[in-house]
Amino acid sequence: MSVTIKTIGVIGAGQMGNGIAHVAAVAGYTVKLIDVSQDALDNAVATITKNLDRQVKKGKIAQADQDQAVALINCSTEMSALSDADLVIEAATENEEVKKSIFKQVCAVVSAECLLASNTSSISITRLAASTDRPERFIGMHFMNPVPVMQLVELIRGIATDESTYEVIKEMTARLGKRSVSAEDFPAFIVNRILLPMINEAVYTLYEGVGSVDSIDTAMRLGANHPMGPLQLADFIGLDTCLAIMNVLHDGLADTKYRPCPLLVKYVEAGWLGRKTGRGFYDYSGEEPVPTR
Ligand code: NAD
Repeated sequence: MSVTIKTIGVIGAGQMGNGIAHVAAVAGYTVKLIDVSQDALDNAVATITKNLDRQVKKGKIAQADQDQAVALINCSTEMSALSDADLVIEAATENEEVKKSIFKQVCAVVSAECLLASNTSSISITRLAASTDRPERFIGMHFMNPVPVMQLVELIRGIATDESTYEVIKEMTARLGKRSVSAEDFPAFIVNRILLPMINEAVYTLYEGVGSVDSIDTAMRLGANHPMGPLQLADFIGLDTCLAIMNVLHDGLADTKYRPCPLLVKYVEAGWLGRKTGRGFYDYSGEEPVPTR
């Protein structure tokens, strides 16, 4: 049975959840944004308002659209607020047990027709779907960060996802103004399967002394026309996230070519996680980022 999506539940109001709520509201969907933390919800509304302001100033959306979008977002710490959702997109912490427990609570309050999606970057969609009462209505929707800016959403069918679920979600993704690509349910899907080994190789290149941070990033920016160098990008993503994805590739595909670089492991052990902690391959304490090696 096909579903018409009008109301979208978004679980997790962190950096991805607030971005998903933002683009869904701008596209005219009613949004129910849920988090266990009221602070996270308050911060999300402040971030969405700030990002919408920026879009109005840049002429990307009209002031009236901003007002309408803000009015479409309803926040709650209670799952029961999702009772009229046609689709629930989970964007909570990357932890399988947390996600399974969330879907259990969601299934208890939504209608039998409601579709479920996870924004996980690495956990098996088939496994998450199997923990629910509706694996055929479950799909992976992997948005990119920052959601309002990045054009792509990877759509990942679990082994049980049915075609009508995929079609409805594909159409809805287009209504969000995003391009979708279909990826099979293998570790790290497409973007991170290709991107993270490149970043890991850049860290090996640094580790082996082939080049300095500046040489490696400049080489890839000017020599391969990448908009950001790989080490600069790693700092932006977060080195802990980079390491977690390499571990998923290494464990899931059991191939030594995915071995995380020991230098990446050391940086994470040191708490040098990139921009978010003020230090990674660059030091962010001054006006301009300064290479650390
Ligand atoms: P985040 O830490 O910014 O936000 C997670 C939010 O989930 C927090 O606000 C937390 O309070 C909330 N939460 C935790 N448990 C909850 C529960 N039981 N019920 C409701 N809310 C709960 O994390 P994020 O970066 O937004 O990542 C969220 C998801 O998106 C993860 O699965 C991550 O892998 C995926 N993702 C992240 C990125 C990225 O670049 N950060 C990109 C694509 C996908």
